[in-house]
Amino acid sequence: MNLEKSKTLFRGAKEVIPGGVNSPVRAFSSVKMDPPFIKRGEGAYIYDEDGNKYIDYVGSWGPLILGHCHPEVVKNLKEVVEMGTSFGAPTAIETKMAQLIVEAIPSIEMVRMVNSGTEATMTALRLARGYTNRSKIVKFNGNYHGHSDSLLIKAGSGALTHGVPNSPGVPEDVVKNTITAKYNDLENIEKIFKVYGEDIAAVIVEPVAGNMGVVPMTQEFADGLRRITEEYGSLLIFDEVMTGFRLAFEGAQSLYNITPDLTCYSKVIGGGLPVGAFGGKKEIMSQMSPIGPVYQAGTLSGNPLAMTAGYTTLKILKENPQIYEEINKKGQRLEEGLKEHAKALGVKASFNRVGSMLCMFFTEGAVEDFEAALTSDTEKYAVYFKSMLQQGIYLAPSQFEATFISAAMTDEDIEKTLEAAYHALEEVKRL
Ligand code: PMP
Repeated sequence: MNLEKSKTLFRGAKEVIPGGVNSPVRAFSSVKMDPPFIKRGEGAYIYDEDGNKYIDYVGSWGPLILGHCHPEVVKNLKEVVEMGTSFGAPTAIETKMAQLIVEAIPSIEMVRMVNSGTEATMTALRLARGYTNRSKIVKFNGNYHGHSDSLLIKAGSGALTHGVPNSPGVPEDVVKNTITAKYNDLENIEKIFKVYGEDIAAVIVEPVAGNMGVVPMTQEFADGLRRITEEYGSLLIFDEVMTGFRLAFEGAQSLYNITPDLTCYSKVIGGGLPVGAFGGKKEIMSQMSPIGPVYQAGTLSGNPLAMTAGYTTLKILKENPQIYEEINKKGQRLEEGLKEHAKALGVKASFNRVGSMLCMFFTEGAVEDFEAALTSDTEKYAVYFKSMLQQGIYLAPSQFEATFISAAMTDEDIEKTLEAAYHALEEVKRL
């Protein structure tokens, strides 16, 4: 595979952008190679600057559930761009977007649009603290909620990939009110609440963690979180940035049958443009400025381009519920095929999948928490990843990320991926 143009571009990028990238995992450092520079995408595929074609299992890290350049999204964006990209004033599409979300999600009566997942979780926490008049928050080890200061401890995703789950530059004073807890460990959270319960404003959780590989909450843990937070008057915040409108139209909360107090979104609701959102009951959301005292604002929040891409994507998903069945079925086929290959070759691996999000860990046993995820052999992942890339399969360049299925993928794409995976696992076996 020729990556000459990408290599040259990367050299140039590194001169003027730290690490050559605007988000760390893109640098491919944990898989020890230079990244291809992507030129364009179409449906299930992306093409790099050297003309290599890949089946894309990253999908911009989750947003592109319909694949690249869905014709309706592109058409609507073209229409809107001719009318102005941003006004910093109310527009009709913002209400349409909010109505669609409120109608879809029973736990949400009001929603505010922001520009990223980081903004959504950061503001949801501020709101929770303002509403409860308490200071402490609880987050789980290996969950990632973006890079705002108070959440950047024991974080997953790029922070974990690059070995800095606690970042320098975050003063101790800022994180002294952040309590970290063990994911899927009810006893641990019960102990924390016994000591700090009256001071805890909120528990924030990824219902299906997608930033330490894929690790779903157990139902027991989910029910426990809801019960304990209610008991102590703390808010339960679901970070559905990755899972919202992906695992089901109504999100992970519908799969677990849990009503969180606040929910954070991003990714799918932006349809590939920068969007984030948080929402919940009117009583809580009414604390937000300008009707309440909790401040938050955004120059480009709710801009017409982002709202159009997001609204069009959500509308397509709403009108075509079979999409979920289809992507979940493809996810299942991929998981089963990978399992068969690993077994046939005697490569030790474990699998977690919820619908169209999956992950193969190079571990001996099952992965149900952060500690188990960390035991995965990342050297093996690097070999697997490189072989897949060379065979035209673009996976996340880190063990601690999810593989995403898009609606644009065909059964042939999945079979081709499995064929490549067999060869890649053969290489892993030779290690
Ligand atoms: N929460 C979760 C669950 C995420 O997966 C991410 C990003 N991967 C974020 C928050 C942060 O979103 P963003 O990168 O848009 O700031």
